[in-house]
This record gives sequence, structure tokens and C-alpha cells, in this order.
Amino acid sequence: MFENLSDRLERSFQLLKGQGKITEINVAETLKDIRRALLDADVNFKIAKTFTDDVKEKALGQNVLTSVKPGQLMVKIVKDELAELMGGTSADIDLTGSPSIILMAGLQGSGKTTFSGKLANLLKRKKGRHPLLVAGDVYRPAAIDQLKVLGEQIGVPVYTEEGNMDPVKIAQSAIKEAKRQGHDVVIIDTAGRLAVDEQMMKEISAIKKAVNPNEILFVVDSMTGQDAVNTAKEFNDRLDFNGVVLTKLDGDTRGGAALSIRSVVTKPIKFVGTGEKLDAIDVFHPTRMADRILG
Ligand code: GDP
Repeated sequence: MFENLSDRLERSFQLLKGQGKITEINVAETLKDIRRALLDADVNFKIAKTFTDDVKEKALGQNVLTSVKPGQLMVKIVKDELAELMGGTSADIDLTGSPSIILMAGLQGSGKTTFSGKLANLLKRKKGRHPLLVAGDVYRPAAIDQLKVLGEQIGVPVYTEEGNMDPVKIAQSAIKEAKRQGHDVVIIDTAGRLAVDEQMMKEISAIKKAVNPNEILFVVDSMTGQDAVNTAKEFNDRLDFNGVVLTKLDGDTRGGAALSIRSVVTKPIKFVGTGEKLDAIDVFHPTRMADRILG
């Protein structure tokens, strides 16, 4: 087992106790420790550097060494700063539309379809909403079936138009149908590909233009590390999405992608996926993620 960062810092600060204020020299080792923890958590190198520079500014001159547990105080400074960088507080989704339209975007395999089901379930059970799921991945019949199965499990209807290869038209018809049937939320699952490509981007941009969604949620697999950041940037450049969904946090990743994505696209992470089951969804909490990243 690795010693976690809190314990490591506690130990190194005990050695510094009695030296008065933190100085450039005695903080260097600590900052190296913090940077290593961030890199271990798969935080982008540049972001880790900027972050530790900021922490250094904050820590220098602070009288942490006179505290009973200087290491813990230092860890607190670091965690607060991390949480702040990840948005400080949890972010809501816009449910003010009638119906509210939520468009899902992301690569194939990121967990879009699963998350669409999870979100519909959450809105139905916890918020008393009446969602309609829309199968917009017209290229993979398996994806349509998958959404239908999910819908059945949670008792949420799924709008499909088998044979129709135009996702823009499907989305428009689904919204009309949702209005007719009194649904207050429409969640549109879209096609993803294994890598960012022009056709996928054109298609989802066209859906965005046609339906003017309240929320575009970009879904990304937290296990994909640095790739997650590049993909987020490409999707954001094209779609200007509203928030990020970080899936597969039940895996062994420390979740550094959360910090990197947030820093690069400056959009809030709104939800996390923590398993394959339909209730494995959580609102994103920056402070919890800071704890996880630092270990
Ligand atoms: P899509 O291609 O983006 O629609 O991705 P899917 O929703 O089909 O998910 C791809 C795979 O990841 C499936 O096997 C899901 O069960 C799995 N998956 C999705 N979300 C999570 C999660 O939060 N944790 C875990 N462990 N698996 C997930």
C-alpha cells in the first residue's frame, strides 16, 4: 500500500516544526509530493504544475508550522484549492423548459446510453419528473435495443423510429410527441464513435441547432485519462456544452481527469457514474473528488 498524501505531508511537516513560517526551501519537498500525487491521479502535467505554484503562493508565509498538525493544515489548503478549481459547489441542470431538453454527447463506449437511463431514473424517482428517452443512435440497432431495455427497467418510455436514419428529424418528432403526452423532460441519446470525427460532430451540431436543448451533457469515461481531456476540448469547441458527466468512477482511477477537464474547458462536472446499475449515479461533489484525487 502507498502511504497516502495526507500521511506523507503530516510526516514531512513534523520534521519542519519549530522552524517558524513556511519558506520557499522547506516547502519545496512538500510541493513535489503534492505534484506527484496529482500526476499519479492522472492530472495533466501542466495543470499539476500551475496548481502547485498556486498552492505555494498560498502556503508561503502562512503560519502553518505553529499549528498542532501542520501537515493536515497544508492538506486542507491543497484540498480547498482543488475543490475550488473544480467549481467549489455542485452544479444543477436546467429543468425549466417545457419540456426540458437534455442532449447527450460523447464517444461510443463512454457510457452515454447507460447514463441517459440513469438520469431518467433519477429525475423520475427523486424529482417526480416524467421523462421521455429518445434513441438517437441510428447507426447501431443494438444501441436502440439497449435504451429500450433500460427504459423498461425504470418504467420510462423510449421514443424510437426504426428505419429512420435522420436523427434530427427523430429528435424533433420526439419532442412533439413528448409535448402531446405531457412529458416534462426529454433526454436524447446520440450516436458516438470511437474517435472524434467530422460526421459525428456535424450530426450532433445539427441536432443542437434543431432542438435548442436546455442542457448538453458531455459524457466521458474517467478511465481514459489524458484522452478524456482532449476529447472534452474537441466536443466543447464544437458544441459549447453545458456540463460534463464523468463515468466509471467505480474503476481504480483516482479521477484526475475531473481536474484536468474542468481546467481545460471551464465547464462544470455535473454528475458522476459509479457503476453499471441504473442507480449508480451521483451529483458531482468537488470536495469529495479533491479527497479522492489526493488519496
Ligand atoms: P455509449 O456507447 O456511450 O452509449 O456507452 P454505454 O452506455 O453502452 O456504456 C458502455 C459500457 O460501459 C457498458 O458496458 C456499460 O455498462 C458501462 N458503463 C457505463 N457507465 C458505467 C459506470 O459508471 N461504471 C462502470 N463500471 N461501467 C459503466
